[in-house]
Amino acid sequence: MYGKGLIKGLGITFKHFFGKAITEQYPEQMPNLSDMFHGSFALDAEKCIACGICAKTCPNNVIKIASSKGEDKKRRLDDYQMNIGLCLFCGLCVESCPTDAINFTQDFELACFTREDTVLKLYQRTEDESASQSGEVMEG
Ligand code: SF4
Ligand code: SF4
Repeated sequence: MYGKGLIKGLGITFKHFFGKAITEQYPEQMPNLSDMFHGSFALDAEKCIACGICAKTCPNNVIKIASSKGEDKKRRLDDYQMNIGLCLFCGLCVESCPTDAINFTQDFELACFTREDTVLKLYQRTEDESASQSGEVMEG
């Protein structure tokens, strides 16, 4: 029948026109995200043992870690940065961490104006946390 497709299309349009609105009013209202959603990253520095596995696992050299030996001779974290501009959000770093120290957050508002701003500084040892003698930098 001539015009059958047009009538069918208009039917769908009218169904949605009078149906419940599904448009989300972002940014006034934040969207309901799935628990599985991968946004930015958070580091629990207390849990991090500065093993560098996450940096070595990352296929794009996103993660840079600096560590040193503490007074107890154990390796400790001094600095942890991620260049999110290079990140594939593949999750390999999160999966590989043996202590569950690095995790995804649901923060997806990652737009920025400069390349420097794409670097997430997730941890930096402060002056009063005693400086290191034998520093080491690990990259992927
Ligand atoms: S999500 Fe993938 S690309 Fe991004 S930092 Fe982790 S391992 Fe690297
Ligand atoms: S794999 Fe986990 S514990 Fe090891 S350096 Fe990365 S965040 Fe820290």
